[in-house]
Amino acid sequence: MKPKILIVEDETAIVDNIQFALETEGFQTIWHSEGKEVLPLLIQDKIDLIVLDIGLPDINGMELCKEIRKTKTTPIIFLTARSDEIDRIVGLEIGADDYMVKPFSPRELSARVKAILRRTMNNLDVKTEVLESSPFKVDEDRNRMTYFKQKLDLSRYEFKILQMFINRPGRIYSREQLMENIWDEPEMSMDRTVDTHIKNIRNKLKVVAPEIDPILTHRSLGYSLKEDI
Ligand code: CA
Repeated sequence: MKPKILIVEDETAIVDNIQFALETEGFQTIWHSEGKEVLPLLIQDKIDLIVLDIGLPDINGMELCKEIRKTKTTPIIFLTARSDEIDRIVGLEIGADDYMVKPFSPRELSARVKAILRRTMNNLDVKTEVLESSPFKVDEDRNRMTYFKQKLDLSRYEFKILQMFINRPGRIYSREQLMENIWDEPEMSMDRTVDTHIKNIRNKLKVVAPEIDPILTHRSLGYSLKEDI
């Protein structure tokens, strides 16, 4: 069965390009120009991924995403024409998996779709693969972690940050997201607390492998773990 991608976008020229690129890669596509069709469709049909424009004629794509997330975990890639929306897309409350800023290359979108589906459709296979190839090994029961077979001496927060990264390589986490998920009292902490912890983690990883910096800084967005270390 070909993976089925739902495209929700009102600009037909963009839709044509996306459909062409995705179908060339062997995906099946369905297209809707308005958001109101989406929720009923998700109930009737099995959709593997949604490409969702934010500027739809009837509803804001982010609002729609929130509605979808109440019942579904279907991966979502946002399309946006406005770079000032990126902060909100990356924010935890929206629940998107990735985004593309217009104008974008349809082939790049295809590559992102493939990367996400590789993670979500064959979760088990991917997990083993990731575990085998990653230099990180996590022993959750004992709160221990090794990096290139060397034990890392991490504080509680450092451990939790790194664990979040390792579970979703490539995903960008904003400082706020890390705060919300990790700190006991996020409101008491400052953004730069996260930066300090990241800096400490980097230093500790550097001791083990000086030539590698597996944590990427995304200017004004946050941090992620490199997918292929
Ligand atoms: Ca639009």
